[in-house]
Amino acid sequence: MTPTQLLNGQTALVTGASRGIGRAIALALGAIGAEVVVNYSNSAEKADEVVQLITASGGSAYAIKANISKEEEVDELVKNVLSRSAHIDILVNNAGITRDGLLMRMKRDDWQEVINLNLSGVFFCTKAVARTMLKQKQGRIINITSVVGLIGNAGQSNYAAAKAGVIGLTKSTAKEFASRGITVNAVAPGFIETDMTKDLNAEEILSAIPLGKFGTPDQIAGTVCFLAANPSASYITGQVIQVDGGMVMG
Ligand code: NAP
Repeated sequence: MTPTQLLNGQTALVTGASRGIGRAIALALGAIGAEVVVNYSNSAEKADEVVQLITASGGSAYAIKANISKEEEVDELVKNVLSRSAHIDILVNNAGITRDGLLMRMKRDDWQEVINLNLSGVFFCTKAVARTMLKQKQGRIINITSVVGLIGNAGQSNYAAAKAGVIGLTKSTAKEFASRGITVNAVAPGFIETDMTKDLNAEEILSAIPLGKFGTPDQIAGTVCFLAANPSASYITGQVIQVDGGMVMG
């Protein structure tokens, strides 16, 4: 088996795949043979570009717009995928936002929007694909959390709560689905250079990274590909894999 054939015949749904980490994940899964569903909510042109990059290099992909924080749109998205692809083998719950602010100044909407997408969205997508994966008796679900979900962060109580919730959700669903051959794992990035982090105080953060540099979307994508495609990963479930340059240890 060559690496390019690893995911031949498999369909991967990646939420928030138009930009940043999700884009890198979609490209990487496409490069190892998966048919990739590129979900986006606003950036239609960027999503189309991801599809074109995958197809131009001989892969297969299509884009679908859906707001992942809305259950009815998620259900419609999954219905749409199943009408085109017949199965869903890999789900990467990547779509996420930040609405930072100190707790005392945080508006209820900033709390709710982050919880709705970053936590409830993972629940909606997992539930929507679960029936198919349970029937197939196979599936890999990979949830993108954050090291902030492990250690908290001043100014990100909404985001940290959602990402910690994703870790609990990952472990619980891993236990529920294990007997049906479905693995559920989380990947916890540290500081990765994307639109999400472009306005943060880079120097301050850099001093907290033992490896002395920021991570790249490709490094997260590589870890996701390992969990999604590597035969050894079929024995890994309920785990949180940190890709953070050593930011959080122990
Ligand atoms: P990003 O560059 O801001 O990209 C976010 C992606 O999510 C975009 O493709 C965006 O699509 C999509 N999205 C936003 N709202 C959505 C919605 N309601 N429904 C569907 N898709 C939506 O962010 P990123 O840095 O790549 O982050 C990706 C994931 O990694 C997030 O879960 C984030 O929390 C996590 N993470 C990032 C870092 C980091 O350092 N960057 C660290 C830890 C964890 P549209 O443009 O189409 O709206």
